[in-house]
Amino acid sequence: MEKHFDLIAIGGGSGGLAVAERAAQLGRRVAIVEGHKLGGTCVNAGCVPKKVMWYAANLAHALADAPGFGVRSRLDGLDWAALVAGRDRYIDRINDYWDGYAADLGITRLRGLGQFVDERTIAVEGEHYRAEHIVIATGGAPIVPPMPGADLGITSDGFFGLTEQPRRVAIVGGGYIGVELAGVLRALGSEVTLVALEDRLLFTFDDLVSETLADNMTRQGIDIHLEFEVAGLEQGANGRALLRSNGERLDGFDTIIWAVGRRPNSAGLELARAGVECHKNGLIPVDDYQNTNVPGLYAIGDVTGREPLTPVAIAAGRRLAERLFGDRPDARLDYTNIPTLVFAHPPVGKVGLTEREARERFGPAVTVYRTEFTPMRYALSEHPMKTAMKLVCAGPQQQVVGIHLAGEGTDEMLQGFAVVVKMGGTKADLDATVALHPTSAEELVTLKTPDPARE
Ligand SMILES: Cc1cc2nc3c(=O)[nH]c(=O)nc-3n(C[C@H](O)[C@H](O)[C@H](O)COP(=O)(O)OP(=O)(O)OC[C@H]3O[C@@H](n4cnc5c(N)ncnc54)[C@H](O)[C@@H]3O)c2cc1C
Repeated sequence: MEKHFDLIAIGGGSGGLAVAERAAQLGRRVAIVEGHKLGGTCVNAGCVPKKVMWYAANLAHALADAPGFGVRSRLDGLDWAALVAGRDRYIDRINDYWDGYAADLGITRLRGLGQFVDERTIAVEGEHYRAEHIVIATGGAPIVPPMPGADLGITSDGFFGLTEQPRRVAIVGGGYIGVELAGVLRALGSEVTLVALEDRLLFTFDDLVSETLADNMTRQGIDIHLEFEVAGLEQGANGRALLRSNGERLDGFDTIIWAVGRRPNSAGLELARAGVECHKNGLIPVDDYQNTNVPGLYAIGDVTGREPLTPVAIAAGRRLAERLFGDRPDARLDYTNIPTLVFAHPPVGKVGLTEREARERFGPAVTVYRTEFTPMRYALSEHPMKTAMKLVCAGPQQQVVGIHLAGEGTDEMLQGFAVVVKMGGTKADLDATVALHPTSAEELVTLKTPDPARE
């Protein structure tokens, strides 16, 4: 087997595959080191299995709403095993696709975990491989906090491995993974309690989104406890329990899920042998061009801690390959105004600055427009979900610097509107766009009255 490459990517997830693919397309000799299946977190234990389950949850919601529209239907339980089997077959097909595609591109697969030997050499299963350029794309893994009884809980990885539907679930964490798993489980019929340390869900999102989300989740019957500091887990007589630092106890759960963040996969890489700097928390610092402190060594994706999203890892990987081997010596990813979604029920999302961030940056030159309504999708529904939208504009031209959405259709709406923010579009550009009717999206081009400035 070949032992010398132009580029080795450590990690065959979103970032590693992207940089390897583009480098191979540019005619370079490329290897990918991967200990598991190709596709990484997104394909195997993240975006893809999550979205399949989100669709199942949406179907359950639609069935519940159907009688209101005169469509006779009845939700007759859930075949969890069939859902999981179908989901896993779908993932297998994506794994197979990547196996075939990587082979077609002439990418060498190095199976096992990679470790640095020196700044140009990687060891995999006892063999040494060298490259001029080595890209660290090892992603991250869920955190289990060190506290009494922590092992009684599972993580998102464990959630995707469940062979039976949990009946009473507690989810620890009010970030996107906690919110998404809570929504799926509730829609599929589990009783769900969600506890979060912060005083609101999705605390990096705009207040309006957090409030609307919490309202919609509560309407669905999710029991939310904010400012809840978990001190430990315990096995009680009637199930597992969450122990709160103030002595309170919530119990009777058959499943507890940790959704308290992810740590970078860098500990086993022997970075010191290559001289690569690493923060105490394991994140690998990089400059604007994904360079680490060692020439020829780069990091992309979740292991850098910068906007941990699949399209970000992919874009950073592609640009890096184009900079190294293509005709684009200045290629780099612009990390500003990256849109992000949370697949709640209904979903929420944002692009650009929150109102709070904009007021900090631009002071009184900020104009905000907002609207809240019940979309027509829920016109005849017994449990209507709310939609909320906010435009954050700055300066005399009212440049749109932030768009915040919560509600039906957010997932498909936000991508197009993110272009407006990325292009530096203004409120006048939105006003000049004729609405599509009847939709929720039309509200974003017909907002009239600014919200009064708030402290
Ligand atoms: C539950 C969940 C839902 C998510 N949903 C979304 C979503 O809807 N949209 C979105 O954009 N993002 C989502 N994400 C985030 C997304 O999955 C990550 O941002 C993305 O996968 C990061 O890509 P990456 O290449 O940095 O790392 P990864 O995709 O994690 O790939 C890293 C790979 O490196 C391998 N590896 C690690 N160490 C070594 C080693 N020493 N040697 C060899 N291989 C190694 C791992 O096995 C893994 O395959 C979700 C994540 C989770 C957990």
